[in-house]
Amino acid sequence: MAEETQIKSISRHNLEQCLKCSICTVYCPVSAVEPTYPGPKQSGPDQERYRLKDAKFFSESLKMCLNCKRCEVACPEGVRIGDLIQAARIDYSTHTPGLRDRMLANTDFMGTLANKVAPLVNFSLGLKPAKAVLHTVMKIDKHRTFPAYSAQKFETWFNKHAREKQREYKRFVSFFHGCYVNYNYPQLGKDLVKIMNACGYGVHLLEKEKCCGVALIANGLSGQARRQGLNNMKAIRKSITANDEAVVTTSSTCTFTMRDEYKELLNIENSDVRSHITLATRFLYRLIDEGKVKLAFRPDYHLKVAYHSACHMERMGWVVYSTELLKLIPGIDFMMLESQCCGIAGTYGFKRENYERAQQIGEGLFRQIKEVAPDCVATDCETCKWQIEMSTGVPVMNPISILADALDVEQTRKLNS
Ligand code: SF4
Ligand code: SF4
Repeated sequence: MAEETQIKSISRHNLEQCLKCSICTVYCPVSAVEPTYPGPKQSGPDQERYRLKDAKFFSESLKMCLNCKRCEVACPEGVRIGDLIQAARIDYSTHTPGLRDRMLANTDFMGTLANKVAPLVNFSLGLKPAKAVLHTVMKIDKHRTFPAYSAQKFETWFNKHAREKQREYKRFVSFFHGCYVNYNYPQLGKDLVKIMNACGYGVHLLEKEKCCGVALIANGLSGQARRQGLNNMKAIRKSITANDEAVVTTSSTCTFTMRDEYKELLNIENSDVRSHITLATRFLYRLIDEGKVKLAFRPDYHLKVAYHSACHMERMGWVVYSTELLKLIPGIDFMMLESQCCGIAGTYGFKRENYERAQQIGEGLFRQIKEVAPDCVATDCETCKWQIEMSTGVPVMNPISILADALDVEQTRKLNS
């Protein structure tokens, strides 16, 4: 039995498959700018062998990892390096999350509070004295711009204006809206409902959706992340059992967290529903590719778009779905940005100790965007949006919003009725 346990733990996240080629280190955005970071090979498989023998070999330097998983994309042997690092932080870190970490991580709690007084919160967070207090007392960097809160939650809008109308459809998807759509930018959720309805699909919301938990994992609150994950899995199972064809999201990070991090980091069994959890662009592209859905676009729509591949989109291998969907729009002047991390990594780039490093990591991407000068950048990750808009001044849109703007709704409805 003891031997069995030993074999299991040595095999964790494919660590024994490491060839020591160091390719992962070449692709690590933190190693490129931070000489004190040991890098993925050392922080992952190398140190894991020691950590398995004794927890004292754990180093808090692992908190510099962005969890971008670019090392995993690069690794020729399928070693789950990012998972090894995050699992080690969960298992061995002795750091206790402070008030700042809890505030940044509890997006549902903070969003619910902020929505009630959104204009006041938005105004205050832009004031220099408020930023100075956050910088000094909370250790949230004063240069960071906060995303604006919406006065009305997406769920409230949906229940008032959209829920009843969904009854007229015969096919359905469930929408995992996530915190950003619910508390900050409900328009993205409205755009998704508009597209799905035009394609002949009704939209359901999940019963009692909670934040996917990605920020909780990153901030040392994995117990709470697990509880929220279990809640979400229960809600997702219920919707799939009720014959919704998929659970779609508009956030690459929420999707990745629920499909992969739940199982690998939080020990949540999700294999029965994992394939049903998908990004809305992937779901739509597949329907179009299979000839099940047709889209019609406005002839007067024109936009120069540069697409940024978010790290978790790269990890899932799903960039192609969003980019091919955008290329279907006749009025789009499309270009692909070089695939690089933007540096923010969720709440990471908000922290005073990480801010400068986050900006250094994103520097190459920001330079390229300024050179290309698009009308907008398209990306599937909301925190990439915050980082790129703050650092370049160029507006950033989710591909779903671009699609919704370009869509000829009436014509699309006719094509799919
Ligand atoms: S890329 Fe993979 S095989 Fe190569 S050193 Fe890194 S973890 Fe090991
Ligand atoms: S997950 Fe990203 S930041 Fe962390 S070690 Fe891998 S490449 Fe580096």
